[in-house]
Amino acid sequence: MILVLVDHDRGELDPLSLRALTAARKLGHEIQSVVIGSEGASLAGVVGEYGAKVLHVATHASITDYAPMASGRVLKELVEKLSPAAVLAAGSPRGNEQLAHLAAFLDLPMAAECSSITLSTTPGAPHQVSRARWAANLIEDANVHSDLLIASILAFSVEPESANGAAASVVEFQPTLEASDTQVRVLSRDSGETKGGVTLTDAKVIVSGGRGVGGSEGFGNLEELATLMGGTVGCSRVVTSSGWRPHAEQVGQTGTKVAPDLYIAAGISGAMQHIAGMKNSKTIVVINTDPEAPILNYADYAIIGDLHQVLPALTKAVREAKG
Ligand SMILES: Cc1cc2nc3c(=O)[nH]c(=O)nc-3n(C[C@H](O)[C@H](O)[C@H](O)COP(=O)(O)OP(=O)(O)OC[C@H]3O[C@@H](n4cnc5c(N)ncnc54)[C@H](O)[C@@H]3O)c2cc1C
Repeated sequence: MILVLVDHDRGELDPLSLRALTAARKLGHEIQSVVIGSEGASLAGVVGEYGAKVLHVATHASITDYAPMASGRVLKELVEKLSPAAVLAAGSPRGNEQLAHLAAFLDLPMAAECSSITLSTTPGAPHQVSRARWAANLIEDANVHSDLLIASILAFSVEPESANGAAASVVEFQPTLEASDTQVRVLSRDSGETKGGVTLTDAKVIVSGGRGVGGSEGFGNLEELATLMGGTVGCSRVVTSSGWRPHAEQVGQTGTKVAPDLYIAAGISGAMQHIAGMKNSKTIVVINTDPEAPILNYADYAIIGDLHQVLPALTKAVREAKG
């Protein structure tokens, strides 16, 4: 049996978890899943559809929001009870963090961001994984010497495929936590919501801006185009560290990894840490004044020009095309 940690934010499923469930299913074992927090119980239908027979729901008075060490403790308890062959999760920052705590509790290795997994069938022989290193610019083949494989699935390396399964059976349980398990937890939130209710991970269209936008006021053009196309705004790290936009909009190695149908990169040079977050986009349009900008190596279409002129012209053309 393979146990998959299904991540959710106050009951809202992280879509990368469906890819983790799909990857788990392809390993040919029975799939069980776990969510942390009672709001996750509502996901029994969708995790069942993607192949999980059981949804373990861990509830505890101290788990009021994301608390990664508590998640690690919950997973440890389930591993000891169920003896799975592997524990998998999405290769998101949260997925990686929760699995890392599990691995630390069990004193076992963890393979982060795997694009392929071959489970060992011979006792004592290592599992084999291919995993992303250097912001996914390098894929490394590695042996994992441990009976239990703890691994996260590289974001967007697997397409989510429904198994048309029935809703998973819900098994609620209360884990035994130590006080230190909830020392790190979310206490309150600033409104990090993306405008229009479309999040970076869900968006089919992302209009992303970099240093070339010139300041926070310059993002009005990007917002207008994004809204017109039913998408959302993203940005580079220079933009968030300059305080022009919130961190929630940062795309890249230390931001969000995205794979929209259309990624428009305006005034972004294409540093490897940015590319790591957007290179899986289906179509990439680059707007840059520099014909030598590295991001052009990833462009399907490029407009060499000043984004302050190009974006309004593009917005006008889209508006006219939409009638
Ligand atoms: C550990 C680490 C993690 C990092 N994580 C991330 C991350 O998650 N995401 C991320 O983005 N970066 C990340 N970075 C930073 C990254 O290395 C780059 O510094 C950053 O991506 C550069 O941002 P930029 O492309 O906006 O700026 P620049 O590199 O300065 O590029 C600006 C671009 O705008 C163009 N331009 C200027 N004016 C105009 C105009 N008027 N019209 C059109 N084009 C114009 C220029 O030709 C240039 O290509 C990380 C760095 C480190 C060390």
